[in-house]
Amino acid sequence: MNYISTRGNTAPKTFSEVLLMGLAPDGGLMLPERYPQIDAATLDKWRGLSYPNLSFEIMRLFATDIPEDDLRAIIGNTYTEEAFGTQAITPVRTLSDGLKIQALSNGPTLAFKDMAMQFLGNAFEYVLKKAGATLNIVGATSGDTGSAAEYALRGKEGVHVFMMSPEGKMSAFQRAQMYSLHDANIHNIAVKGMFDDCQDIVKAVQNDAAFKAQYRIGTVNSINWGRVMAQIVYYFAGYFYATQSNAETVSFCVPSGNFGNICAGHIAKQMGLPIGRLMVATNENDVLDEFFKTGRYLPRSAAQTHVTSSPSMDISKASNFERFVFDLAGRNPAEIRALWEQVASGAGFDLGGLLDEARGQYGFVSGKSTHADRLATIRRVYEEDGELIDPHTADGVKVARELRENGETVVCLETALPAKFADTIREALGGSVAIPRPAKLEGLENLPQRVQTVPADADAVKNIIRRVLD
Ligand SMILES: *Cc1c(COP(=O)(O)O)cnc(C)c1O
Repeated sequence: MNYISTRGNTAPKTFSEVLLMGLAPDGGLMLPERYPQIDAATLDKWRGLSYPNLSFEIMRLFATDIPEDDLRAIIGNTYTEEAFGTQAITPVRTLSDGLKIQALSNGPTLAFKDMAMQFLGNAFEYVLKKAGATLNIVGATSGDTGSAAEYALRGKEGVHVFMMSPEGKMSAFQRAQMYSLHDANIHNIAVKGMFDDCQDIVKAVQNDAAFKAQYRIGTVNSINWGRVMAQIVYYFAGYFYATQSNAETVSFCVPSGNFGNICAGHIAKQMGLPIGRLMVATNENDVLDEFFKTGRYLPRSAAQTHVTSSPSMDISKASNFERFVFDLAGRNPAEIRALWEQVASGAGFDLGGLLDEARGQYGFVSGKSTHADRLATIRRVYEEDGELIDPHTADGVKVARELRENGETVVCLETALPAKFADTIREALGGSVAIPRPAKLEGLENLPQRVQTVPADADAVKNIIRRVLD
């Protein structure tokens, strides 16, 4: 299986090459040259496989240059009951109104990003070792991504992680999660500034070509193909867990920001998984909802991005969206280049003419949820089902309930656990509600923390990197 760029000006690459890439050199995103097609007999065989075995069957279609025994070992080390809490890895439960919830957030950092990042950590280590190479990840986080990357890469050979976060802007829980890691290859850097300052520093480091080459700088952001691939698996697993037979159809509702999670659902559907509709749930940052309602895609600036109580969806430029638009526009790289030139100029684009296809052939619909919706949904699920859901999952449940049709089976993806967002849960339910926390995270905030604080200045960060690697 070869990989091509959505912009069409990058020579085809293998899976191992794509795994270590961020953006393609031509500015596009890498995708398989075609999606493997799963026929009914294969789907029958896959029903009943364990999560690791299902992962292997799916990933071997994409990671064709990794010897099968090695791939099996990487997967076997990743999707364990120890790391994800259950043998099912992503179990599905049903609320009293029939809506189903698939738990993707029982990994080490309690958010769905662990599902892909844990795999990526093991795959990175394997590919680097084989090539005799090393890689140094420089990233910025306002919460979930940074901790998922650190827990995936801690203690891994050949990899260092330099993760910037805005000083004092994350929750006490999120700070403790990252800063309590004492592995020698994990470097937490608190920047005196905002998240945007952290991102500017990442860009400055990336744009210093000499520095980037000398210190072998890489990233693990959501455009990484390995992450999207690993996410395809849980759509298959969720389908099998939610149905009795492969004659049934299931729709998925996905709390969305960068369009990475639901992009994997799109690919699963294109592979032949009987997915009915793909419901995009946004918060107040509703760029994607606007697209699926009107055909207009108008990314907004950081200044126009609302700070909300589902912060991991506070994104106004959906970095994986280009992968879907590539398929929607008939896989024509010239058109993608033209569309993203319009995006770069600030004009955005209008694909209203393709909306019928986006909804019909591709099954996309969308909805939006606000702070008040989130609180009301958390309250209703608590009252009706006696369970807590996190604010991002609440956005999904709100939109799923709004869009669900009679007889439609809808699986809503649970993207984080409530323990991570205790303040909003208390705002919804009052201060006395007990918010359960996995035993392994009891007392997290009391552990000794390790972090270096620097001014919002790329040179200060480069100096830290030099000191570690020289
Ligand atoms: C990252 C994240 C999302 C958004 O996922 P995308 O792949 O960026 O669309 C939603 N919920 C939570 C909790 C997240 O961490």
